[in-house]
Amino acid sequence: MNRAASVPASQVMTWLESVPDPEIPVLSVVDLGVVRGVAWDGETCVVTITPTYSGCPAMREIAHDIERTLAGHGVAAVRVETRLAPAWTTDWMSERGRAALKGYGIAAPAERAIDVSGISRRAAGPVVACPHCGSNRTRLVSHFGSTSCKALYRCAACREPFDYFKTH
Ligand SMILES: [Zn+2]
Repeated sequence: MNRAASVPASQVMTWLESVPDPEIPVLSVVDLGVVRGVAWDGETCVVTITPTYSGCPAMREIAHDIERTLAGHGVAAVRVETRLAPAWTTDWMSERGRAALKGYGIAAPAERAIDVSGISRRAAGPVVACPHCGSNRTRLVSHFGSTSCKALYRCAACREPFDYFKTH
């Protein structure tokens, strides 16, 4: 019996908290809600991830970082499985993740992507508070910011531009 295979999944999850999101290094893949689960298949550690955005090229990098990090903790056999349904939603982001986003100058999702009735509110257009000064007087500059996962906004109060992590 491989020693690593007796490690609880919750411990593996804690190790994964050191794996940063390639696009937003202050945010771990756990806080981002990308890691959906950890399980053991015999002596292979199976990590299930759900991409934040279909075709996000960062996912390959994340899978590689997960394998490397777990190898550093003595887990030699790792399988990263991608699950596309249900689709990732910004609702899966942890409170710590939202706080880290703001500290990084990125506005966290303003509202839950799915309301209680289960209807996506994506089309409604959220009120986005400026991460620099907190003002709600912001406007969308471009639907695509530094990456396709983000939109570019500008604050009318402090005039600073900022990225908004799109709710989807
Ligand atoms: Zn501002």
